[in-house]
Amino acid sequence: MSAPSTDTEELHGQLRQGVRELCQRFPDTYWRELDAARAYPDAFVKALTDAGYLAALIPEEYGGSGLGVTEAAIILEEVNRSGGNSGACHAQMYVMGTLLRHGSEAQKRRFLPAIADGTLRLQAFGVTEPTTGSDTTQVKTNAVRKGNRYLVNGQKVWISRAEHSDLMILLVRTTPIEQVKKRSEGLSVLLVDLREAIGHGLTIRPLRTMMNHATTELFFDDLEVPVENLIGEEGKGFTYLLDGLNAERILIAAECVGDGRWFIERARKYASERVVFGRPIGQNQGIQFPIARAHVNIEAADLMRQRAASLFDRHQPCGAESNMAKLLAADASWEAANVAVQTHGGFGFAEDYDIERKFRETKLYQVAPVSTNLILAFIGQHVLGMPRSY
Ligand SMILES: Cc1cc2nc3c(=O)[nH]c(=O)nc-3n(C[C@H](O)[C@H](O)[C@H](O)COP(=O)(O)OP(=O)(O)OC[C@H]3O[C@@H](n4cnc5c(N)ncnc54)[C@H](O)[C@@H]3O)c2cc1C
Repeated sequence: MSAPSTDTEELHGQLRQGVRELCQRFPDTYWRELDAARAYPDAFVKALTDAGYLAALIPEEYGGSGLGVTEAAIILEEVNRSGGNSGACHAQMYVMGTLLRHGSEAQKRRFLPAIADGTLRLQAFGVTEPTTGSDTTQVKTNAVRKGNRYLVNGQKVWISRAEHSDLMILLVRTTPIEQVKKRSEGLSVLLVDLREAIGHGLTIRPLRTMMNHATTELFFDDLEVPVENLIGEEGKGFTYLLDGLNAERILIAAECVGDGRWFIERARKYASERVVFGRPIGQNQGIQFPIARAHVNIEAADLMRQRAASLFDRHQPCGAESNMAKLLAADASWEAANVAVQTHGGFGFAEDYDIERKFRETKLYQVAPVSTNLILAFIGQHVLGMPRSY
C-alpha cells in the first residue's frame, strides 16, 4: 500500500471534519428518541444527502463527487464514530455501484444525477429470501418476461429501508434453476420503482427488530417491471451482485471501526471518571486492559480496511482483503461493545448512556450483510484452497 500524499491526507482530514460537524447537529438524544420510536432518521439522511456525502461514489459527470471507496468509508466511519448509525443510508453508496457498473448509459443518465442531488433515493436492495438465506443462487423470486414487461412473483425478507426509498435493486430468477448449467446463472437484476410498485403487485410489511433498522418483508404478486429496467444482461445478475460485494464489505468494515472507536472512547472516559473503592475503575487492570485490547484490535482491523479500500480504488483484486476487513472489524467492534457495557456496569444497560443502543446496532454486523461463517468459508475455499464447505 503506497503512503497517502499530503494532498490526500488533507482531503481526508477535511472530509472527517466536515462529517463530524454535520453529525454534531444530531446528538445522542436524536438517535435515542428515534430508537425508542423505531423511526427513520429522515432529517439526518436529508442533511447527509444535501451535503453531497451520499453521492461520494457517483462520478462527477453524473453529478456526484467522484471519490473512491476510501473516502466513502471515511464518511460512514465518522457517522458511526459520532454515535449515529450509517445503517439508515449506507446502501445508497454500495447499491448504486450495480447501476454504475452495469447499467446502460440511458439508465445512468436517467437515475444517477437524480440520486446524486437527492431527488431520488436508491436505498434498498432485495436479495435475501426466507427459505434460501445465505444460499443466494437458490433465490425463488422469479421474473417472467411478457412482451415489454417482467412479471415478478415471490417473497423477500430483511429488505431494509424499502419504505424510505424510491428505487430498489432486486435480484430475481429469470431462467428456472433446472434449465441452467451453473446455479449462479439465470439470475437477473431489476431496478424497481417502488413509488409505482407499492400497492400494484408489491406489498411491504415492516419487521420490528432489536434495533432501529427500518427493515421489511416484501411480497410480489404479479408485479410488473418494464424490461427497460433490467440492469445489464438477463441471466448475469449473480455476477453483478458479486462485483458489488467488495465495496459493501469495506464500507461495513469502516462503520464497525467507527462503532469500535465510539465504544472505546466512551469506555475510556467512563473508566477514567468513575470512582469506586476510592479510585477510578480504569486504574484496575481488569478494566483497563480489556479496553486497551479492544483498541488494539480496532486499529488492526482499520489497517486491513485501509488496505482493502486502497486496492479497490486502484482496481486491484481485493476479495480476500475486503472480506477479512469486514470480519476483523465486525469482531473488533463487537468486542469493544462488550467491553463498553462491562466498563459501565449497570449504566451500560441504561438507555440514557446509549451504550446498549450501539451494542444492539453493532451486533448486526456479525450476521449481515454476510455472516462471519460465510466469510470464513470464502477464505477457506478461495484464499486457502481448501474444499468447498457449503
Ligand atoms: C437487520 C437486517 C437487515 C438486513 N438488510 C438486508 C437488506 O437490505 N437486503 C437483503 O437482501 N438482505 C438483508 N439482510 C439479510 C442478511 O443479509 C441475512 O440475514 C444474512 O445474509 C444471513 O442470512 P440468513 O439470515 O438467512 O441466515 P442463514 O443463511 O439461515 O444462516 C443462519 C446461520 O447459519 C450460518 N450458516 C449458514 N450456512 C452455513 C454454512 N454452510 N456453514 C457455516 N455456517 C452456516 C450463518 O452464518 C448464520 O449464522 C438483513 C438482515 C438483517 C437481520
